[in-house]
Amino acid sequence: MKHIVDLAKNRGFVFQGSEIYGGLANTWDYGPLGSLLKENLKNLWIREFVQRRPDMVLLDAAILMNPQVWVASGHVGGFSDPLIDDKNTKERFRADKLIEGKITEIVTEALKQNEEWVHLEKNMDEAGNLRKALQLHPAIYNQIITEKVLKKYWVPNQIPESWTPEQQLNFMKCEDVRNPNNPDVKADWTEIRKFNLMFETKQGVTDDSTAKVYLRPETAQGIFVDFPHIVRTCRRRVPFGVAQVGKAFRNEITPGNFIFRTREFEQMEIEFFCEPGTQKEWHEKWKVACKKFLMETVGIKESNLRFREHEKDELSHYSDWTFDIEYDFPSIGFSELQGIASRTDFDLKAHMSESKQDMSYFDPVKNTKFIPYVIEPSIGLTRLFLATLCDAYDTIKDEEGAERIVLRLKPEVAPVKIAVLPLVKKLNEKAEEVFTLLSNNFMTWYDETGSIGKRYARFDEIGTPWCVTIDFDNTMEKNMVTIRHRDTMEQEIVAIDDLVDYFKKYL
Ligand code: ATP
Repeated sequence: MKHIVDLAKNRGFVFQGSEIYGGLANTWDYGPLGSLLKENLKNLWIREFVQRRPDMVLLDAAILMNPQVWVASGHVGGFSDPLIDDKNTKERFRADKLIEGKITEIVTEALKQNEEWVHLEKNMDEAGNLRKALQLHPAIYNQIITEKVLKKYWVPNQIPESWTPEQQLNFMKCEDVRNPNNPDVKADWTEIRKFNLMFETKQGVTDDSTAKVYLRPETAQGIFVDFPHIVRTCRRRVPFGVAQVGKAFRNEITPGNFIFRTREFEQMEIEFFCEPGTQKEWHEKWKVACKKFLMETVGIKESNLRFREHEKDELSHYSDWTFDIEYDFPSIGFSELQGIASRTDFDLKAHMSESKQDMSYFDPVKNTKFIPYVIEPSIGLTRLFLATLCDAYDTIKDEEGAERIVLRLKPEVAPVKIAVLPLVKKLNEKAEEVFTLLSNNFMTWYDETGSIGKRYARFDEIGTPWCVTIDFDNTMEKNMVTIRHRDTMEQEIVAIDDLVDYFKKYL
């Protein structure tokens, strides 16, 4: 992860936010390359799920919404994490995350002490991913958990997020859970409080409670509240879906791991409305479509992806069934990249009851009226950005044996598609001509400084799939250029007149 962060910062993918003022914790700016990469991912997603499907439309709803929206959706009452402070250091943590860490330790210890279980330890990845062990050897894992956690602490399951604050605190005290940043000293924990993750702000000039509004913690609700307008104006029949890309804000207690978890991020969400009873079928279809997008369009390796079904106690209040697609992030291990939730009719029903407006759907062909069920594939654009960088990151040895980075991004994903490189500065006039021709069609950069080898290496590092070299023999004499391919390093001579068509085959 450190290599990814260094590359991102040094090459203009991601900068620390407001750095000249010492930064603002956990805020990031997407630099010249990062903003292009993010835009590409977003456009490919829209092309795949809106443009190429007759059953999808796009929406761009406001970030600030009537606060009643968040009452109906359950976010005002329930969108919170358990917060705990260490009085020794005045640091804040999510109690459930500390407990999860301790449970990992407990199971690891139990495995170490029993010879029969020693081989199991080998199956746990570096991040101590117990879910993996659970999948491989559920019986042994369950035995440890039952003995050492469930029966010992009278908790209903192994998901600390779903325990009561009393159960969480009791576990932390009895197991002597330490502050991870100050592990040598016994922590002095406060009580656990529920901390609502929604950012609050005030709208307008009055300063009373009626002015309070929230920054949306998910884009989804904009789709639900606009559902009747979309049905009326777009003449779509259920089953159909609405896609939306936009910012979301969550006052996360423990953001971090670079851009993996931030307080301001972007989501790409789909709410797919279907007839009650057909949700399982649609859920399966969306699982396939989402994985296909990640692998075939974005180019993520299958071996770094896996599905994980949510356990019953883990499900969100609105969901009867959820699958995550997890990505094997370096230093983090397999973690959620995308959620695909079967969201039932919870949201439309909740808005119907809160707003007193009719949110049901009338099918003119079948002459029936019902509240549609919803399948929600939701992916963090900024988290996908991180997965894409991690997945494309590769190193090779140059002729002198030194290691250098090659970012193996798919051409459609790459921020800069083509670099135009005059062999020497004298050729700049012709090179600028080629640049104009290409940049009218593709994101093209021009670079005339440094040796040609160094320039190739610079563009390999930012994932540019092709370099176009302008030289005396081919270009000035024959009106041709050399195309150098990033991944194979092969070179091809192509006529300038054919260049645009050549690249259009790939882009
Ligand atoms: P997590 O368990 O990681 O907190 P979540 O289950 O709360 O995520 P959802 O509410 O399902 O997340 O949001 C959908 C997607 O939005 C996630 O799969 C993730 O890609 C992205 N996402 C959620 N929270 C953040 C965040 N704080 N920073 C970046 N991306 C996020």
